[in-house]
Amino acid sequence: MIDVVSVTSEVFPLIKTGGLADVTGALPSALAAHDVAVRTLVPGYPAVMGAMEGGTVVAEFPDFFGGTARLVAGRAGGLEIIAVDAPHLYDRPGNPYLGPDRLDWPDNWKRFAALSFAGYEVSRGVIDGYKPNIMHCHDWQSGLTPAYVAYNAPTGVKTIMTVHNIAFQGRYTWDIFNDLRLDFRAAQEGAIEYYGGIGYLKAGLYSADALTTVSPTYALEIKGPAYGMGLEGLLQARKDALVGILNGIDDRAWDPMVDPALPAHFGHNSTEQRAGNRRALAERFDLDDSPGPIFSVVSRLTWQKGLDLLVEVADQIVAAGGKLAILGAGDAEIENGLAGAAMRHPGKVGFVRAYDEGLSHLIQGGADVMLVPSRFEPCGLTQLYGLRYGCVPLVSRVGGLADTVIDANEAAVEAGVATGIVFAPVTAEALLDAVHRTIRLYEREKTWRKMQRRGMKSDVSWDLSAEKYAKLYGRLLGVRESDDDDH
Ligand code: ADP
Repeated sequence: MIDVVSVTSEVFPLIKTGGLADVTGALPSALAAHDVAVRTLVPGYPAVMGAMEGGTVVAEFPDFFGGTARLVAGRAGGLEIIAVDAPHLYDRPGNPYLGPDRLDWPDNWKRFAALSFAGYEVSRGVIDGYKPNIMHCHDWQSGLTPAYVAYNAPTGVKTIMTVHNIAFQGRYTWDIFNDLRLDFRAAQEGAIEYYGGIGYLKAGLYSADALTTVSPTYALEIKGPAYGMGLEGLLQARKDALVGILNGIDDRAWDPMVDPALPAHFGHNSTEQRAGNRRALAERFDLDDSPGPIFSVVSRLTWQKGLDLLVEVADQIVAAGGKLAILGAGDAEIENGLAGAAMRHPGKVGFVRAYDEGLSHLIQGGADVMLVPSRFEPCGLTQLYGLRYGCVPLVSRVGGLADTVIDANEAAVEAGVATGIVFAPVTAEALLDAVHRTIRLYEREKTWRKMQRRGMKSDVSWDLSAEKYAKLYGRLLGVRESDDDDH
């Protein structure tokens, strides 16, 4: 049995702002099948502390980044949780990163240094009777853990840094250094210096024993300047330590046969049942019942996601006979653009400006097309949910989108392998072309249904990827691969 601590700032179903939570929430049970026991170390936000079932205090720190803190271990949301209960840092309502003004909390540097430091404490055995083998750190919020491990007395633990999105890096100025409790050698050796300041993700990528990211294509992309966002040099230097392992989906939370958010359940042999969900969806988004596909979006509304391009072409999508059902929140300009399109096209464009987990399921189960026109996309989950739910993905050819959707060009349709529509480059023109192509395919009813079913049958589970993580853990711990393969 390999003992892993997953260090993360969000985990489904306790606290979620994006795909990171889905991944850290789903991996523990997928890894259990491979003799890996995962405990999740997460800040003790109100949503986490409130969900703990019979938590036990397993460590206490009287002076922890400006206040007192305790580690509380217990079960929550079906997971083994170690919560960093530090009210001065985490007992705040709402979003884990943003204050009520929608700006970053000014002490985020301290809040996530504290999470990372708690990771180090756990790695060195601060919890009685528990000594993990691997610290698996997710994104910049836990980026300092590998540095604390590397620049303190050896604990024997191995560290992994996983990049879920290299756009978020945790960059700060040097004046915080003394409060980080990090050995001066980390500064001297260049482990944390980042373009004249301090970089948390940089520290993790520099110090960890192994690096992963969430798709093979993104692993290639981030080694170059177009996608590396300043970290490409370091990733080039460490390329032998970096692998891309595709995300899967939690197929218990996302199962169209039993999903409680769907009025009508269906499988790949009963896609006609989707009609009931489509009607419910049209009602929620005030769409009329004219023919033509419903294109949908479930997303943060940001430049990364390319949704400014959707604002640009919304009128033309309607003119071509398409309808739009959009769920999301984010940049004010994109929100306003979408709200404007909805005003101009009653019955054709619906926009719900919200974060709504249940509605996101209804969209996947009822809409015809899942639009993901991202400028960069480390893996992307909504296209995977789309595949599983028969909501055919229309995606840009970047990162994990390129790795998970097979474009319906004529050759692929003929060969019976297409699962969606893929376009490049990421421009308004190319997006609109792809929309036109999609509408033509939708009109070929038989071809469409086949593509939909093929997507539903494709393997988007964690099975293969969990095995890859388990093998990586084994390799780091010196377990010979051939031993693995004997089982
Ligand atoms: P990212 O992590 O970059 O936001 P992903 O595609 O990896 O993108 O994951 C996004 C996750 O967040 C998915 O589970 C998606 O369904 C969910 N999501 C995004 N926006 C919303 C929303 N407005 N309401 C409900 N779920 C949302």
